Amino acid sequence: MGASLVLEASWGELDCTDSDVYVPESRRRNRAAAAPTGESGMRVLITGGAGFIGSHLAESLIARGDQVLVLDDLSTGSMENIRHLKPLSNFHYWIDSVMNRVLLAELVDESDLVIHFAAAVGVRLIVESPVHTIETNVKGTELVLQAAQKKKKTVLVASTSEVYGKSAEVPFREDGDLVMGATNKGRWSYAASKALDEFLALAYCREKKLPVIIARFFNTIGPKQTGRYGMVVPNFVRQAMSGKPITVFGDGKQSRCFCHVADVVQAVLKLVSHTKAVGEVFNIGSTEEISIESLANLVKARLKSDSEIQYVPYDQAYEEGFEDMQRRVPCVEKIWKSIGWRATTPLDVTIDSIASYFEERDKQVTSGIVSGSAEALARTAGSRS
Ligand code: UDP
Repeated sequence: MGASLVLEASWGELDCTDSDVYVPESRRRNRAAAAPTGESGMRVLITGGAGFIGSHLAESLIARGDQVLVLDDLSTGSMENIRHLKPLSNFHYWIDSVMNRVLLAELVDESDLVIHFAAAVGVRLIVESPVHTIETNVKGTELVLQAAQKKKKTVLVASTSEVYGKSAEVPFREDGDLVMGATNKGRWSYAASKALDEFLALAYCREKKLPVIIARFFNTIGPKQTGRYGMVVPNFVRQAMSGKPITVFGDGKQSRCFCHVADVVQAVLKLVSHTKAVGEVFNIGSTEEISIESLANLVKARLKSDSEIQYVPYDQAYEEGFEDMQRRVPCVEKIWKSIGWRATTPLDVTIDSIASYFEERDKQVTSGIVSGSAEALARTAGSRS
């Protein structure tokens, strides 16, 4: 990669109260030279950029004329998600881990903004690989913050609604208590690891004046998401399309709010554009709540599927003693007041878009445009919730 666009941000003291749209100092100085292709012309590093949300974000940044640098080890991400971006001159990617300290430092150096999505995600993955989850999430974030600290690059750290744990204070507010389960229950390692990421990022902001923003993603869904790591909506859509039983875990009375990835991307773009967001934690999610049982019925109806609904005990679906969250609803007052964002895509529209995506993929596989089984191609990336 050329070094011509290496820029040095000079934040000096952070001003977290200024609500002006944020443009780094360096960008203001170098805008003409460094932004030949678009309106904002930032250089944005997305760790985990070949994942589900990351690749959608990469598309949007490229569309507005930014330079996008993706670092992804393809552990849950996929080349399939970024293949169409590869020929573009403002897209660059490295298949490597955030644990590659030297490469990470160089990429952070060459960026104006870092969006840190690289993480072990998905409940099934977490239950099956707790060591990997903890190490990736904690060490990875530490390395990203250390690298960003050198030249005070702004970092958006992706967190998760899992951090609210078993809290019953619904809807969840960013300043609410986090209630986690015992350490011998594997699923809580994800919540604990992301909570630690948040503590560390906020500590860098307060103590070292690093501009950080924390985004707590609630259940995010949309085209390109895979059911491979246990995400319910792609699972249900796939099951309904193939006429297989739709597997509702537990009694199906637990509920979630599902947000279209395009809405989530808009939230991220707005957050990183506002100085007001620096040093703050934000929920990003839909407030349209639905029980998993009703979701199964909705998917069935939208797809006009004959699939039966099958109830699977948690012990069989995950592990002995698995604890699920009964309700997970975000309070979005803070993000609405701060940057004027809220989710707008209705769930049925999102379900239709996911079904269309799978249909299109299946057609491409059948016609040989892409190789591999339709099922394998559908398994393209992880998600955060
Ligand atoms: N779930 C389900 N069937 C599936 C996958 C998941 O009933 O095939 C349930 C899961 O137990 C949880 C909800 O759907 O109660 C959402 O699961 P997901 O893994 O998508 O997200 P999270 O648990 O992180 O909210």
